[in-house]
Amino acid sequence: MTMVERDLVIIGGGSAGMAAAVAAYDAGIHDILLLERNEMLGGILNQCIHNGFGLQYFKEELTGPEFLTRFVREVEARSIDYRLGANVLSISIDKVVSYVSALDGAVEVKAKAIVMAAGCYERSAGSIGIPGDRPAGVITAGQAQLYLNEYGYLVGKKVFILGSGDIGLIMARRMTLEGAKVLGVAELMPYSNGLNRNIQQCLIDFDIPLYLSHTVTNVIGKAKLEAIEISQVDESFNPIPGTEKRFDVDTLLLSVGLVPNNDLLDKMGIPKASTRGSQVNDNLETSIPGVFSCGNVLHVHDLVDYVVDEGRVAGLGAAKYLKGELEPSSDILLTKAGEGISYVVPARIERDHCDDSVVLKFRVRKPRKDVYIVYSQGDTVLKKTFKTAIIPSEMEIVKLPKNLLIAGEPLTVSLVGKEAK
Ligand SMILES: Cc1cc2nc3c(=O)[nH]c(=O)nc-3n(C[C@H](O)[C@H](O)[C@H](O)COP(=O)(O)OP(=O)(O)OC[C@H]3O[C@@H](n4cnc5c(N)ncnc54)[C@H](O)[C@@H]3O)c2cc1C
Repeated sequence: MTMVERDLVIIGGGSAGMAAAVAAYDAGIHDILLLERNEMLGGILNQCIHNGFGLQYFKEELTGPEFLTRFVREVEARSIDYRLGANVLSISIDKVVSYVSALDGAVEVKAKAIVMAAGCYERSAGSIGIPGDRPAGVITAGQAQLYLNEYGYLVGKKVFILGSGDIGLIMARRMTLEGAKVLGVAELMPYSNGLNRNIQQCLIDFDIPLYLSHTVTNVIGKAKLEAIEISQVDESFNPIPGTEKRFDVDTLLLSVGLVPNNDLLDKMGIPKASTRGSQVNDNLETSIPGVFSCGNVLHVHDLVDYVVDEGRVAGLGAAKYLKGELEPSSDILLTKAGEGISYVVPARIERDHCDDSVVLKFRVRKPRKDVYIVYSQGDTVLKKTFKTAIIPSEMEIVKLPKNLLIAGEPLTVSLVGKEAK
């Protein structure tokens, strides 16, 4: 097997991986190898032909392909070495990255630093607990988006969607525009999991009903989907007998969650966070020095602009590591998700390595109104901000000045206030 050496290997050529490559290059690291298993750079953005990308980063509303093209140009302008069709199979603890590609065959790359940017995958039909068979016509929303937007196939004509995540909402509009009839979207929770703008632009504008506190309770059809049944659920998410509604459909799209594609780092024994990505510090470095993680493989993002920022942080972190500027830290603070918060990234802050401020990203567990977000260490409140409304589908980002942080106690983020009615 061929063995080569590289300063920096980046796994995944989506927006996170490309942003990491550009940032590391601009920080003086030029011996970079970017590995992408698909035949194009850009990742999930290739199939997202709707607009809404880049509002923060470019101050323009771009489609996914327009957004990614700008980054591909940045990569190519710097002559950063990338391989397409290169599937990374494993990474050893001593940073040997093994990949296969039709062009190169089986290759081992001894890397001095690694940025993991492998994105996320959709929960599939087999992994969710709805009764009935899985006949043809039961398909994930992202897969349907790929068929339609990249290969030109409309997967069905009469459609129902389970889950109100953004991909499901966007596909409700997309399938309608292509001539399919979308009969409804069922959501288990009493609120939608998608961005508010997508509820308006993809459902309300097209008169597509959203059934909150509902789930699919039967999938009918053997070889081909014929119908589905939905039921209302109670507060414990149990179906309420007598509330069944039947929809005769040929397609059930599942939009029931994205999971970080983090197996390669999990197999290295890197501790996992509740996001199902790896635990990282404020430079996005994992527990293995020189191994960084960013983008949807670290935690699932709502906006590509934040993914790009995170890719930059990981790329700069890798550059600092390669220049010997990230010695092991002796001044570590852990972060903690307190009341009402589902997770906080990063898992730890290394005060001696961070700049003037520390960026925390987190999501709330459920929608709340008129709440304070409280940042505290023990009994000391470092900062408190008021929000009239806060929802799980929108990631929160806050910058805390480094000089506020005190040694010792974990930095806890929590919500204090009234529950949403
Ligand atoms: C349907 C949908 C709609 C969205 N809509 C919007 C929107 O309107 N506005 C917005 O701002 N954001 C939107 N987003 C969010 C944003 O686009 C994504 O969060 C972002 O593009 C993710 O970037 P990433 O680089 O982390 O992951 P990805 O784009 O998934 O890239 C990961 C890359 O890693 C590669 N890879 C994985 N494993 C390996 C391996 N073993 N070896 C080699 N390569 C590997 C994959 O092939 C892929 O190319 C949307 C996301 C989705 C899914």
